[in-house]
Amino acid sequence: MTEKKINLKGKTLEELQEFFELINEDKYRATQVFQWLYQKRVDSFDEMTNLSKSLRSQLKQIATIESLELVEIQSSPKTDTRKFVFKCEDGSLIESVLIPDQDRLTLCLSTQVGCPLDCQFCATGQMGYKRNLTVFEIIDQFIQTSKHSERPITNIVYMGMGEPFLNYENTLKSLSIFSSDLAFDISAKKITVSTAGIPDKIIDFAHQPFKGKLAFSLHSTDEEIRSLIMPINKKYSLKQNIDALEYFYKQTRRRITFEYILLKGINDSDKDVHGLVKLSKRIPSKINIIPFNSIAHTNPKGLGAELEPTSPEEFDAFVEKLRRNNLTVFVRNTKGSDIAGACGQLATKILRKSKSVKI
Ligand code: SAH
Repeated sequence: MTEKKINLKGKTLEELQEFFELINEDKYRATQVFQWLYQKRVDSFDEMTNLSKSLRSQLKQIATIESLELVEIQSSPKTDTRKFVFKCEDGSLIESVLIPDQDRLTLCLSTQVGCPLDCQFCATGQMGYKRNLTVFEIIDQFIQTSKHSERPITNIVYMGMGEPFLNYENTLKSLSIFSSDLAFDISAKKITVSTAGIPDKIIDFAHQPFKGKLAFSLHSTDEEIRSLIMPINKKYSLKQNIDALEYFYKQTRRRITFEYILLKGINDSDKDVHGLVKLSKRIPSKINIIPFNSIAHTNPKGLGAELEPTSPEEFDAFVEKLRRNNLTVFVRNTKGSDIAGACGQLATKILRKSKSVKI
């Protein structure tokens, strides 16, 4: 048979049901295989012991259970944060990060190879954009990274490479698999999807059965400045996004998380404090203030080359001013900055290395 075998890893329960219907098998087989794939996470059909031998051998003929190829793991001795680089079937490199905390282990995963948004502070943007990840490639980041961890992964953030809302269908499918009690059984409350702001998707997301958290990469409350650091703002303005976020809150009653990297002289003035205070009065939210992780190793062009972190003293003063105004502020520390921790940084390093080898 020359037909390509079908990879069952990445299929939703409904898709597996369709698959088993197609091969004239009972529907409940789908549930069994769904559990084998995502609850017990087996690598072969032979391990699916509640399927008949003949069904197992039929599955071997027509289907596979693929895995991403692990290329590199970098560990931060300081924080125990670990960064994984995987190679996809087409050779593309993607990365995932495991971030331990006292009682949590958070997986930061990617949804695209590269990213088309070109945010000036982000290493992934420098790589350009190649394609969306498949559901299999999103899900398998969880399966492969958990193999290298003694503790179970408790939280998931969609904050790696790419824009989840530009890979919306696959993001939704992956969320349904992660949160299903027949699969990974991660409570939706422990899953955060982060977006740079695609308003119609924010609105649609409010109507999805998935009840997880939404984070918005804000980084400035000023339209002009935000357009400078995040070119996507020229297409979808802050106003459109804020309207969509307000709608999301009214529909779901779930508080939004705003992400805000402090950039020296760009978004760290008193005027910016005022902008955040005003915004948080309108939208029930909390704010993550994030120190800027240098992306100098990617040789950024334009504004990206000039970005600098706010000094630690001014950083603390900014946070203090927000707190004095009763905002809920969290300071996200740069866990893993010593291992190229921020978004896309390790993959760009490896790409560079392999490029220089070729030359
Ligand atoms: N496209 C989505 C998901 C990517 S996550 C989005 O924009 O939300 C993007 C987040 O990664 C940013 O909000 C920021 O929190 C973090 N990030 C990216 N580059 C960074 C850098 N150089 N320093 C610190 N944090 C960074």
